[in-house]
Amino acid sequence: MNILLIGGGGREHALAWKLAQSPKVEKIYAAPGNPGMALLPKCECIALDVENLEGVADYAEEKSIDLTVVGPEAPLVAGLADVCKRRGLPVFGPSKAAAQLEGSKAFSKELMAKYNIPTAFFKICEDIETAKAYVEEKGAPIVVKADGLAAGKGVVVAMTKQEALDAIDEMMADHKFGNAGARLVLEEYMEGEEASLLAFTDGKTIVPMIASQDHKRVFDGDEGPNTGGMGTYAPAPVMTDVLRLKATELILKPVIAAMAAEGMPYQGCLYAGLMIKGDSVKVVEFNCRFGDPETQVVLPLLDGDLAEIMLACATGTLAQVDFGWYDKAAVCVVMASGGYPESYAKGMEITGLADAAADKDVVVFHAGTKADGAKVLTNGGRVLGVTAVDANIKAARDRAYTAVEKINFNGAFCRKDIAWRALKR
Ligand code: ATP
Repeated sequence: MNILLIGGGGREHALAWKLAQSPKVEKIYAAPGNPGMALLPKCECIALDVENLEGVADYAEEKSIDLTVVGPEAPLVAGLADVCKRRGLPVFGPSKAAAQLEGSKAFSKELMAKYNIPTAFFKICEDIETAKAYVEEKGAPIVVKADGLAAGKGVVVAMTKQEALDAIDEMMADHKFGNAGARLVLEEYMEGEEASLLAFTDGKTIVPMIASQDHKRVFDGDEGPNTGGMGTYAPAPVMTDVLRLKATELILKPVIAAMAAEGMPYQGCLYAGLMIKGDSVKVVEFNCRFGDPETQVVLPLLDGDLAEIMLACATGTLAQVDFGWYDKAAVCVVMASGGYPESYAKGMEITGLADAAADKDVVVFHAGTKADGAKVLTNGGRVLGVTAVDANIKAARDRAYTAVEKINFNGAFCRKDIAWRALKR
């Protein structure tokens, strides 16, 4: 099998790493890939303009690609999967219409309301007056969300009425997120513990992966501003077997049936961000692709052939594929550039990568790096995802931090408390 993998972050490195292990895979073309992916067997990093959707499909035809795997949301929301399908090219990832589950929070909330999928109460507002009147009526805490994609920054959890009113002004009057804030979703504040449940689906069958938990805040103890994710672990014990069954029956299966009923069958990876409180589980958000850095802990625990699973999702045969999960745990510690998530320097030399990866149960996923001859330099806020697998969360975490200590670059920092919730239990 020849695979074209779109993307070049830690998520795509984890996807390529697992795909490369499949005996069915001959070659992976990663566009653009990254220096970590370039070292993988079978993987070649290529320059391809992924905004040119027809150009991507031309390349897939030219290289006899058997499966195109789309990592990030932007090309999916732009319609890359539709172009591939129209040209008879198997693709892992939802159509433009189905990707609205992530691309429009209003779409996703309305779908959930229509099909009784548990989520926070909400109101969709098209203008400032309606939005402000709703905040006055409901009071705080309340959550203000820009409808469209805003790189994870379009959500304000307002603990006071004033914060909510200010957020409405920023999004609707000041157009902080451009057109993404032309419509808002105002949402009831939900208490609880969050977990991510990713699932493989071919549009008819949906199979959940193991649950994981991200750490969004930049500093230990969940302090400081939100980031793209400072670390993850799996399995997340907050997701008990009972809750997982509930999430599958009340959320995952109904949403896939709903999308099919609406004439926009959803195929690929469905990411459900969930809020858990006691025995209740509700949807915080859906994403239309693998999570980053959740993927870095989920895939190392997959006991199965990722290429076979993904091709089955693309061709509607997921029910025929057998796979499971290792009875182990994985922890990913993100090493970031000093200053992140605000401004930070790039171009710092990274040392110790080979030393850290000498442990056969450690993988160092590259998120924001670039090659400079034989050297590897920092090239982003989140630089590396140092992932370790071991018998349990505690052992995996210790192993990951031992590897982190071997890696160095100017300004490097990481959270020291990844997986604290699991260990507190
Ligand atoms: P990302 O894609 O980066 O996860 P996003 O911009 O799509 O973020 P959401 O996931 O919807 O936004 O919200 C971001 C965070 O805000 C959530 O992870 C959660 O911590 C918090 N949040 C969102 N909605 C609620 C809610 N109704 N109640 C409490 N907290 C919420």
